[in-house]
Amino acid sequence: MTDGAKPDTSCGFVALIGAPNVGKSTLVNALVGSKVTIVSRKVQTTRALIRGIVIADHAQIILVDTPGIFSPKRRLDRAMVSTAWSGAYDADLVCVLLDAKVGLDEEADRILSKVAGVDHDKILVINKIDLVPREKLLALAKAANERLVCKDTFMISALSGDGVDDLRAALARMVPAGPFLYPEDQMSDAPMRQLAAEITREKIFQKLHQELPYQSTVETDSWSERKDGSIRIEQTIFVEREGQRKIVLGKGGATVKSIGAEARKELAEITGCPVHLFLFVKVRENWGDDPDRYREMGLEFPRE
Ligand code: GDP
Ligand code: MG
Repeated sequence: MTDGAKPDTSCGFVALIGAPNVGKSTLVNALVGSKVTIVSRKVQTTRALIRGIVIADHAQIILVDTPGIFSPKRRLDRAMVSTAWSGAYDADLVCVLLDAKVGLDEEADRILSKVAGVDHDKILVINKIDLVPREKLLALAKAANERLVCKDTFMISALSGDGVDDLRAALARMVPAGPFLYPEDQMSDAPMRQLAAEITREKIFQKLHQELPYQSTVETDSWSERKDGSIRIEQTIFVEREGQRKIVLGKGGATVKSIGAEARKELAEITGCPVHLFLFVKVRENWGDDPDRYREMGLEFPRE
């Protein structure tokens, strides 16, 4: 590129908007090609904005994996919703995801009308096409396009990867011209500490989803690389009540031990290093009303 010439690269933010469980995190992973956000069968495990970065052709696509858009009741939930929407307003492009199997239910409808008010180009992405027959897909695409003006419609399976290459190429064409904002080898700007905390949180959900729905948070207190090439990580699991602390600990510490073992295994896979993980469980009352916790999770603190 010479002075004054049009840059030969492009770069932009793409917000993924869709109902919980529509497959946003799975799609980020499929587009990036490596695990950057946590996939869970449970809804709303993505609390913070996490970006995956894709290089395709001469474009850098920065994906904003928004937390689910849903009807908020608790303060933390409201923070997630407003963060999700601010992600959409800040982006260059908005991908609206629909679940092919669920179709245009009330929630999808609500999202479509709200996205209509976002002043950016929109792309409709119908995900989970592996689950429904073709005729249903075409009908859904037609109905959705009648409700929201989209530049393009893609039918994909984020899980199998079907259609993902086409979508990636289209995003690369659509992001605005400009220099890359992140170094090329950087797949995700989510700090490893945060990723590590998410992994442990996912293991807690897997083990304790009945007893402890969403009332816990995990923070990585320290992350250090040791001379022998291993990584030492210390984390604290915060719960709201003593009873919940007992549940997380389990009999003789058995539950937290197995949570730690699972998390350690996954962290070792991702980092490619032996990992020593130390978990502490603490009670912190009303963490759901503490502004600092929101900042740590990259959320805005709602005033009401
Ligand atoms: P998010 O809440 O929008 O981030 O959704 P996730 O990415 O966590 O996905 C929710 C669930 O849908 C997970 O169990 C995924 O494996 C599943 N899923 C995502 N994409 C597909 C797909 O294309 N096909 C099928 N069959 N399942 C999918
Ligand atoms: Mg998600």
